[in-house]
Amino acid sequence: MPSFSPHCVLCPRLAVFLRKTAHENPDYHCKPVAPFGDVAPKLLIVGLAPGMHGANRTGRPFTGDYAGILLYRTLHELGLASAPQSTDRADGLKLPGVLITNAVKCLPPDNKPLPIEIKTCNPYLQTELEKLGSAKVVLALGTVAHDAVLMASGLPRGAAKFGHGNEFELPARRMVDSYHCSRYNTNTRRLTAEMFRTVVGRAASLAGL
Ligand code: URA
Repeated sequence: MPSFSPHCVLCPRLAVFLRKTAHENPDYHCKPVAPFGDVAPKLLIVGLAPGMHGANRTGRPFTGDYAGILLYRTLHELGLASAPQSTDRADGLKLPGVLITNAVKCLPPDNKPLPIEIKTCNPYLQTELEKLGSAKVVLALGTVAHDAVLMASGLPRGAAKFGHGNEFELPARRMVDSYHCSRYNTNTRRLTAEMFRTVVGRAASLAGL
């Protein structure tokens, strides 16, 4: 399995949804969204899946929607992004030492991939992890990312319990958990900007960044 395929249609429901979305939004990316950042990262950040008007529009993870505002601003504050915003694929943004990917590469309806879709997409994440020997730390944003990283590492779902700030030793690297930086989590203050900066900073320092 390659670590990414821009033409993947392995999930029939997602392939149909992407075709419909492309028809309705001809200027949107509407394909699997490739990882973005440093090709030899020390820190891999794993999100959930592209958002309709964010990554699915721009073709870059966490770019163009609310979740990305806090993520890229935090990375910039910590010296891990060359600018505080990610606007589009041509903005010249650099993430020294960091790569951002998603547990599911295609836009899911209602932001909710089905368990079978998470499983079908998981070999891409597994290959990404295998190829990224340099990435000694994975920051999982939310439970779907947490479970997907366990699966991609060959571990059963219950091998580590998700919790904000939890840390686990995986076979080849350490995983740090964070609540997802979604609009819902930040609006309800389940995740504050300070909590997020602390956990991203911790993951970065574990990674030697
Ligand atoms: N955009 C992404 O690329 N991933 C998420 O998890 C949320 C928004």
